[in-house]
Amino acid sequence: KAKRRGNHNFEWFSHDINSKVERHVVVRHELQEALNNDEFRLVYQPMTNAAGEMRSVEALLRWQHPQQGEVSPAEFIPIAEHTGQIISIGRWVFEQVCRDMGRLIQLGVQTVSVNLSPLQLSRNRFIEDLDTTLAKYQVQPEQITLEITENVLVNELTHAPELLQALHERGFTIALDDFGSGYSSLRYLHELPIDVVKIDRVFTQQIGLKNGKESIVRAIMAIAAELKLKVIAEGIETAEQLDFLQARHCDGYQGFYLGRPVPIQELIQYAPA
Ligand code: C2E
Ligand code: MG
Ligand code: MG
Ligand code: MG
Repeated sequence: KAKRRGNHNFEWFSHDINSKVERHVVVRHELQEALNNDEFRLVYQPMTNAAGEMRSVEALLRWQHPQQGEVSPAEFIPIAEHTGQIISIGRWVFEQVCRDMGRLIQLGVQTVSVNLSPLQLSRNRFIEDLDTTLAKYQVQPEQITLEITENVLVNELTHAPELLQALHERGFTIALDDFGSGYSSLRYLHELPIDVVKIDRVFTQQIGLKNGKESIVRAIMAIAAELKLKVIAEGIETAEQLDFLQARHCDGYQGFYLGRPVPIQELIQYAPA
């Protein structure tokens, strides 16, 4: 039976397994089984606009492990990146989003956000693969936002700027996820074709705290306004946080207070009546 794993990250991966190498062998095998046996699922988290309407959702990956229950992406994505399996998993995610697009549009959704790993951007055929999948499901790039994190410029991924530029020119929206939590956020804004910044939830959650550093949120919004970028606030958990952000006019609002990530068939509860 499925058991939520909560914060017990890595417990089952490391259990009974002596070395890191051995662990990676086991997990590589299990991830391959997951792809073969259809153990991945997508959930969608609503993002609301100024009028409180759900016009975007973020696709988030879930792994329903036959023995371990639901495994968090925070737990298996780093391993899939290490083994290179994030390429096939990422392809599955993108195809599933395109497959779901028709139903999402019926719920009033206009754009779907997809998270990308830096490794996906290092692959030559990445854009061709996306094109093939878009054509297969008749989805337009304008319907997709690609979320990247602040480590795409790290390592040997020297083609990331050109690739992101090409994706941007194709009509995809590019969002910088977890903005402010990395080491060189401003450099990313300078070097990459970013349309949207997503305020990292550690900053959102300062709002309303005693001695909370709300000024970081205000500063991020000032930078975004200056650079004509859209802002989405993530991790909104309280009415107070939402009020603060709405008073300062974000372009999108996301967090458990507005809606948890849910399977597509449960998303209907957020759609207009
Ligand atoms: P992310 O892209 O920053 O996604 C937001 C995460 O914050 C999600 O965790 C979401 O469930 C959680 N979240 C949303 N609202 C709240 C809130 O109000 N409070 C709190 N405490 N958390 C909130 P999740 O689904 O566990 O995903 C974790 C990370 O795994 C994602 O962070 C993303 O970096 C990565 N990820 C998820 N799906 C994919 C995928 O398909 N591909 C890749 N490459 N990475 C993915
Ligand atoms: Mg994201
Ligand atoms: Mg994020
Ligand atoms: Mg994150």
